Amino acid sequence: MEKILNFINGRLTEPIGNSYIPDYCPMNGKEYALIPDSDERDVNMAVEAALKAFKTWSKTPAEKRAACLFKLAELIEKNAEDFARAETLDNGKPISLSRAVDIPRGSANFRFYAHALLQMHTEAYPMDDVAINYVLRKPLGVAGCISPWNLPLYLFSWKVAPALAAGCSVVAKPSELTPMTAFMLSKLIPEAGFPEGVFNIIHGLGAKAGNAVVAHPNIPAISFTGGTVTGKHISSVAAPMFKKLSLELGGKNPNIIFADCDFESMMKTTMLSSFSNQGQICLCGSRIYVEENLYEKFKNEFVKRVLELKVGNPLDEKTKVGAVVSEAHKKKILGYIELAQKEGGKILCGGREATVEDDLKGGYYVMPTVIEGLDHTCRTNQEEIFGPVVTIQPFKTEDEVLEMANSTIYGLSSTIWTNNLKRAHRMAAELEAGIVWVNGWLIRDLRTPFGGMKASGIGREGGTQAIEFFTEEKNVCIKL
Ligand code: NDP
Repeated sequence: MEKILNFINGRLTEPIGNSYIPDYCPMNGKEYALIPDSDERDVNMAVEAALKAFKTWSKTPAEKRAACLFKLAELIEKNAEDFARAETLDNGKPISLSRAVDIPRGSANFRFYAHALLQMHTEAYPMDDVAINYVLRKPLGVAGCISPWNLPLYLFSWKVAPALAAGCSVVAKPSELTPMTAFMLSKLIPEAGFPEGVFNIIHGLGAKAGNAVVAHPNIPAISFTGGTVTGKHISSVAAPMFKKLSLELGGKNPNIIFADCDFESMMKTTMLSSFSNQGQICLCGSRIYVEENLYEKFKNEFVKRVLELKVGNPLDEKTKVGAVVSEAHKKKILGYIELAQKEGGKILCGGREATVEDDLKGGYYVMPTVIEGLDHTCRTNQEEIFGPVVTIQPFKTEDEVLEMANSTIYGLSSTIWTNNLKRAHRMAAELEAGIVWVNGWLIRDLRTPFGGMKASGIGREGGTQAIEFFTEEKNVCIKL
């Protein structure tokens, strides 16, 4: 059985406590690797190495830092198929998705921030003949990066790449549910040319290893992506220590469909925004609101297509819906389906575990599920399920759907389908969401600000904003 190791000071390292936890394969529920059950001592060791490395990395010329990021991107590309297979085995997502989205985006993140770092500049504020101000931007120190299980390499690299680009050294903790691709990455770090101690990876439980990262006095910045409840806890530890915090949290995103949309394009994309990655993307549109006069047509066609989705073996290239990440998460999703029925919802399709071949029997499979008949205020429509479950609901007017769309504590993303340009602009301005897609979904330009409003987070990632997050600004004022 493969033993995953921490990566500290340029070396693969056993956890100090010599304790390991099992890594399960969602495809069949079997234990297939061991993960270090790291604790405060391992985090301290990584921070010590990172502090030492920061002294030189922060002063390393931009071209040299960028070269390490470019090389790491290239190495991911060279090993793309191995990474894709590992991501699928560790997470349960269809291999087609790992190949097309997760792994290419992992390398793209390093490449993007290598380019971005070469374009960084600061501002100057001349005060006529009185003085001139200019802004220095210095890397903060050791950055703590904590990422979730749903897009393992994709979101891990989305955090560490801007931190390294900014000149910070890093102590990163991937989710204990999906540590494999971060482990594979750690083996490539020396070859990419990163000096020892610049890029450290600690594996283990969130409440133990993750918490030690957040609470460490020598980590001045925490970049976290994960659930809103965890984000709240992280804030309570980090805020009194005056740490800089970037929080990308949960969502309950509305997908708003007007009758004047391009039906086929909307339908194809709505299938993806509902069930890609088993609905485990923070940007999935789990509340579908359909204009009243299109509702029946939409419902019939949508359910017909959902029933045609191939559910099952994630390694089968034709699979569209694979396994959800863990047994506990499967139970949570099924619990919400039960709740929806208690709240008066009618299951139009799915609503149960999927039947799979014998060798996949212990895996975590949930049928893509469509529910109607629920009020927008019920728990099913207010709480994040994060699985292959969507609700559909008719609406009459723009005002009514805006109220329903904005009714949750979340504000991550939203989608509008309409060919009425004025309406698209009106709605985009009024929706409480950090990202609004009009007639599309998950179209991502890495230069754009990414993040949520309300309980979906604080701050924005993406573009130069993410590099700036890992720096401290200093204004220098020179009297003329
Ligand atoms: P969690 O909040 O459970 O975990 C996220 C990360 O935090 C994991 O690495 C976890 O470790 C770690 N962690 C858990 N507890 C602590 C703690 N006390 N201190 C420090 N770290 C801790 O989220 P999930 O992994 O379940 O991810 C799903 C959630 O992420 C969903 O709510 C989803 O919406 C959100 N998400 C948001 C995105 C966004 O951009 N806004 C993008 C993707 C997902 P471990 O897993 O080992 O416990």
